[in-house]
Amino acid sequence: MDLTYTQAEEDFRRELRSWLQANIPPEWTRPGFWESLGDDESFRVRRDWERDKALAGFAGISWPTEYGGRGGTPGMKAIYDEETVQANAPRTVNALGLTFLAPTVMAIGSDAQKKEIIGPLLRNEVIWCQGFSEPGAGSDLAAISTRGVRDGSGESDDFVVNGQKVWTTNAVHGDKIFAMVRTEPGSQRHRGISMLLIDMHQPGVDARPLKQMSGASEFGEVFFDDARVPVTDSLGDIGDGWRTAMLLLSFERGASGIAQYTEFRRQYDEIAAVARKLGRDRDPVVRDELARVLTELECLRLHAMHVLTQVEQGRDLGFEASMTKLQWSEAFQDLWEVYDHVLGEDATLDAVDGIDLRPLHAQAMWSRSVTIWGGSSQVQRNVTAERVLGLPR
Ligand SMILES: Cc1cc2nc3c(=O)[nH]c(=O)nc-3n(C[C@H](O)[C@H](O)[C@H](O)COP(=O)(O)OP(=O)(O)OC[C@H]3O[C@@H](n4cnc5c(N)ncnc54)[C@H](O)[C@@H]3O)c2cc1C
Repeated sequence: MDLTYTQAEEDFRRELRSWLQANIPPEWTRPGFWESLGDDESFRVRRDWERDKALAGFAGISWPTEYGGRGGTPGMKAIYDEETVQANAPRTVNALGLTFLAPTVMAIGSDAQKKEIIGPLLRNEVIWCQGFSEPGAGSDLAAISTRGVRDGSGESDDFVVNGQKVWTTNAVHGDKIFAMVRTEPGSQRHRGISMLLIDMHQPGVDARPLKQMSGASEFGEVFFDDARVPVTDSLGDIGDGWRTAMLLLSFERGASGIAQYTEFRRQYDEIAAVARKLGRDRDPVVRDELARVLTELECLRLHAMHVLTQVEQGRDLGFEASMTKLQWSEAFQDLWEVYDHVLGEDATLDAVDGIDLRPLHAQAMWSRSVTIWGGSSQVQRNVTAERVLGLPR
């Protein structure tokens, strides 16, 4: 494992840090600022800021320059993750497009798709949603039933799409959705599916928000009622959508966990500060829990550096990446369980002794979701058991 960065990487860190210092208004770092804006305004402000950041050259850090990226090393991407979290920079509003769609288009998209999708995505001109999950298909993605029937009767050659997606992140702010659609009538399981790129601003698409227990509506439901999609808007071959989906999901594998560690470590300090204010830091059980979760976080940091070293050396981590997802998501959940114990009977208060607890409550609630999305913990354990350890199914 290599715990150092090169001189060029450290130079990049300095350049990025000074841009962030000059371009993040101080009030954005005030606890509760983003929550006070509401969903729509917060999304708009983050969208514009991220566009300006891309125009300044701080987006697509490790993407090839021919696609508008910076052509940087995996180390620079890790530094970018670390510095943006440390500077309290707003979270990306286009995570699904940037993490999954763009690299897939670079790998297998047509020339027209590369031109139309990647640049506008990088500059946030188009917000992308991921349309995989359905009411009857989550972990078992091959159970999808949204269907597309080919209609070449008019001037255009389209798929006519009907069905429903659910838990769609950014559903109400999305412009387009990459969706798994069954395009071969009567096909079963992994066969006969296509990955269609669907315009969400058309009469046949209805996106409705789903309200979370935190009050936010970060995701929603998307209904297709005779939505039309030109057959040329299939990513990968028509009927070969399963292969496209597996390629797309594999792009999470290079992620090291550095960003998560940096963010969780800061949150740990916030939780410890609340414990001190409430005098709960004198409780030996709470002290023990804080020490245990801090150890977990330091293990996450070392694992993240191990993954980064492997990626820098050109090694494909393959299914070992499931372990990274397991480790960061469960450490995050453990951290916020400690917060619940720190608060104890004060859990319903909005503030204690000058500390606004509402943003912390929101994180505690959000932490419940991270062992579900992106492959649940149970599914990651299955993958690790079967594909990494070679245990029988
Ligand atoms: C915050 C959030 C954002 C999301 N964003 C998106 C999005 O943008 N686009 C999208 O398409 N989807 C999205 N999802 C959906 C997410 O991908 C699914 O929730 C996830 O795949 C699990 O599917 P499910 O909810 O249907 O649960 P199920 O698959 O029904 O699972 C229920 C329980 O059974 C367990 N289980 C299932 N299969 C197995 C098995 N083989 N072995 C052992 N245990 C098993 C699961 O671990 C889970 O505990 C999001 C979800 C959340 C919570």
